[in-house]
Amino acid sequence: MSLSTATATPLLGQSLQDLTTWMQDQGQPGYRGKQLHQWLYQKGVRSLSEITVFPKAWREANQDVTLGRSTIHHRSISPDGTIKYLLKLADGNIIETVGMPTQRRLTVCVSSQVGCPMACDFCATGKGGFLRNLQVHEIVDQVLTVQGEFRDRVSNIVFMGMGEPLLNVDNVLGALRCLNQDVGIGARSMTISTVGIPGQIRRLAQHQLQSTLAVSLHSSNQTLREQLIPSARQYPLEALIAECRDYVKLTGRRLTFEYLLLAGLNDRPHHAEELARHLRGFQNHVNLIPYNPISEVDYQRPTPQQVDEFVEALKERHIAVSVRYSKGLDVDAACGQLRASQES
Ligand code: SF4
Repeated sequence: MSLSTATATPLLGQSLQDLTTWMQDQGQPGYRGKQLHQWLYQKGVRSLSEITVFPKAWREANQDVTLGRSTIHHRSISPDGTIKYLLKLADGNIIETVGMPTQRRLTVCVSSQVGCPMACDFCATGKGGFLRNLQVHEIVDQVLTVQGEFRDRVSNIVFMGMGEPLLNVDNVLGALRCLNQDVGIGARSMTISTVGIPGQIRRLAQHQLQSTLAVSLHSSNQTLREQLIPSARQYPLEALIAECRDYVKLTGRRLTFEYLLLAGLNDRPHHAEELARHLRGFQNHVNLIPYNPISEVDYQRPTPQQVDEFVEALKERHIAVSVRYSKGLDVDAACGQLRASQES
C-alpha cells in the first residue's frame, strides 16, 4: 500500500529527501520529488491535483493523498492589517493563527497546541483548556496559509499562539527544521516563547538553535507569578532564572524576557528594581508589553507615564529593554497578549 491514503503521514513537513523517496516508491522518477517539494512549500498547493507538472492520470489515481493542509474557517481583519485566522484541522479541531504585516515584515504568530494546559490567568486561550499537541504539518500549514493569504513571503515566526511550545518540543523542533530548510525562513527570524517548563530550557540549549528563546516572566516575584501563571507553583522563579542563565552560557545566545505590564500589580519602579536584580550578570533583553484588556479578566493597562517610569528604572540598572504593543486589538488577537505582540 502506498502512503496515498487519508490516514498516512501527511506530505507537508517532510524533507526533500523523504519526498523524493516517496515519489520513487510511487514508481515516479526522483526529480518528481523536487517538483513536489517546490509545489508544496513554495507554491503552497492544497492538493496533489493542483500540481499540473505531474501526469494527470497519476494525480487522479492519488487524489486521496493527505497533504496536511487545514481549511480556513474564519477570518477577522483589523484596520491595522492584522488578520486572525481560525483554521480547521483534519480532525475538526480549530486553532488560531495571526498574520501581522508591517512595512518591512510579515510575521506569523503560530499555535503549537489545540488549547493550552497552562491556564495563565490573563490569557483567553488558557481559559479554554487543552485538547492535544499539534503535529509538524499542522504548524507548518499555519505559516503557508498566511503566506498564501497575504500573497507575500513570511519573514518572521513567533510561537506565541495557542499552547506552550515546550510541552510539544519534538513537533516544534520538527516544524522549525521544515520552516527553515524547506520553506526558507531564516532560523534567526523565528522565536519560541515559553512560560517555562522545568528542564526544557536546558534541553533546548543542547540543540544549539539559532532561533530566539523568549521566556514569559511577567513578574519579578514568585507570589505574583504564581497568581498569573499557576504552573509557576512547580517552578520557582530562582530555578527558572538559573535555567535561563545556563541557556545563555551553553548557547552563547542572548535570551529575551517577556514582561506583561499590568497596572498597579507589577508595573511600579520597585518591581523593575526587583526584576533587574534577577537579570543581572547574563546576556538578556526585556520586552515590556503593556496589557491589552480582554473581556474575561479584570486586569488593566498601565498609563504611558507608568510604562516610561518602568523603562527608566530598568535602564538605570543597565537592563536592555524595549516596549512592544499588541497589534490587532480589535480582532481579539489575544493569546495571552503575546501572540500579537511585535516590535512597534
Ligand atoms: S499565555 Fe501561553 S502558556 Fe499561558 S495559557 Fe495562554 S497560551 Fe498557554
